[in-house]
Amino acid sequence: MAETDYRPTNFIRQIIEKDLASGLHQTVATRFPPEPNGYLHMGHAKSICLNFGVAQDYQGSCNLRFDDTNPEKENIDYVNSIKNDVSWLGFSWNDEEKYSSNYFDQLYGFAVELIEKGLAYVDFNNQEKMRELRGTLTAPGVNSEYRDTSVEENLAHFEKMRMGEYKEGECSLRAKIDMSSAFMCMRDPVIYRVRFAHHHQTGDKWCIYPMYDFTHCISDAIEGITHSLCTLEFQDNRRLYDWVIENISIDCTPRQYEFSRLNVEYTVLSKRKLIQLVDEGHVAGWDDPRMPTIAGIRRRGYTAASIREFCKRIGVTKMDNMVEMSMLEACIRDELNETAPRRMAVLDPIKVVIENYPEDKVEILSAPNHPNNEEMGNRDIYFSKTLYIEADDFRESANKKFKRLVIGKEVRLRNAYYLKAERFDEDENGKVTCVYCTYDPDTLGKDPEDRKAKGVIHWVSASHGVPAKVRLYDRLFTVPNPAAADDFTACINADSLQTVSAVVEASLKGVSSLSGFQFERTGYFSVDIDSTDDSLVFNRTVGLRDTWAKVSN
Ligand code: ATP
Ligand code: MG
Repeated sequence: MAETDYRPTNFIRQIIEKDLASGLHQTVATRFPPEPNGYLHMGHAKSICLNFGVAQDYQGSCNLRFDDTNPEKENIDYVNSIKNDVSWLGFSWNDEEKYSSNYFDQLYGFAVELIEKGLAYVDFNNQEKMRELRGTLTAPGVNSEYRDTSVEENLAHFEKMRMGEYKEGECSLRAKIDMSSAFMCMRDPVIYRVRFAHHHQTGDKWCIYPMYDFTHCISDAIEGITHSLCTLEFQDNRRLYDWVIENISIDCTPRQYEFSRLNVEYTVLSKRKLIQLVDEGHVAGWDDPRMPTIAGIRRRGYTAASIREFCKRIGVTKMDNMVEMSMLEACIRDELNETAPRRMAVLDPIKVVIENYPEDKVEILSAPNHPNNEEMGNRDIYFSKTLYIEADDFRESANKKFKRLVIGKEVRLRNAYYLKAERFDEDENGKVTCVYCTYDPDTLGKDPEDRKAKGVIHWVSASHGVPAKVRLYDRLFTVPNPAAADDFTACINADSLQTVSAVVEASLKGVSSLSGFQFERTGYFSVDIDSTDDSLVFNRTVGLRDTWAKVSN
């Protein structure tokens, strides 16, 4: 298995080790907190591997908690896909999955506590007005005229908010902190707002919903989370996180630590953008193999181990950076090179007729499933008078660098005989339609004494081969950082999917979905979920070599 078993080290693990050594914590408790408003992507995989990984390595626990405070954008399908993806990645969460919405009663209670302490108030300014009063990075904000409303009045207003007596946008509950703070998030942030929305977990019980910053820290504290790991854009919000925990009666002090987001070249890792790709039909769905979603790359043929290995290789730091796609590809290539059975498939077939091979003869030859691993055994392949080879592997004439089939020269057919090209047919456009050859019957598994063929090409018997659709994928965007463009959809690569009609060896009939193979000389392929016994469909997972370096120059 190409997944390495070393334990990564990073600044977060160092903090955890220090906290365990000093006795600050007896055990480590983390959580992975997705909002169920889209499918998980590679960025989430980084967070999953980090959160579940430290819990595993330090004998702690990791919760899966749905951060579900925006009912309009969330739904149960997303919840289910997220659970499925986390499990598929090889992690199991502590107990049942959790929902922030499980804590709505408690959150409401803590909001009341803040009001009672004079630390929260109901503001009847609309969003626009509040924005105006908030100030800017260089100018302090201005106190709202509702800031000094009495505790009793605030309690009454908040109760009315809960009872549905105020309209959406009419008022909101704000924490009373500091309108001149250097941190914008501390300028009396909204902590509850009115939303008459049906919630996938709580139904119609609530018409007020708590904001992320208020919900997250309290959910962490309720669950006894010790280390709350999130991405760098929440760095400033840590002040608010700590402020809330300090000002409510809860007996737990989780700490937030920030690490850098994962960005990968030639793709986008933002649910909002991924939703747009799906909704506008730029891709065939969330699990389109070109998508950087877990569902997409799984369908593309990536294994969970290769994704975990990728997350190990990129590490965890506080530095924002852009990772090359070739990093990800190297992980799956390294794994499949060791594990994928070899097969022969011709993606762009032209016919070869072996003129000195008997008309009706069929030989069953044996081919190793892996060149370096005998344990993977052998398979039968059929050899007959008419074969397919790649159009690319034949030229009428060529220089010495072309080590494939040329008129008058010999080449080895992989796992079979020497083949010599004699003549060929072409159509009116000059496209070769058939190459007439002879073979040397004395060259099965051995070279003749007097000569040695320079090249080896793959082939499939025409009468035994099975037709298959093969999808060849290229990067989804034409620029390394599409997210930086004004309109990222304008950078979509129009040629990111090419479907070819291939012929594959008979042993591939009936293979099961998602199993991966190396098609000799062409790349690693996996069986698509659209594949049936009667019509095989393969996805190219990755080429045999890194072609990205070349492309981006
Ligand atoms: P998006 O911007 O794609 O909507 P998000 O941060 O809003 O992402 P959440 O569902 O809130 O998505 O994320 C769950 C967890 O995954 C959070 O802790 C978040 O910080 C982390 N996460 C999301 N994107 C990345 C990324 N690109 N790299 C690392 N971690 C990420
Ligand atoms: Mg989010």
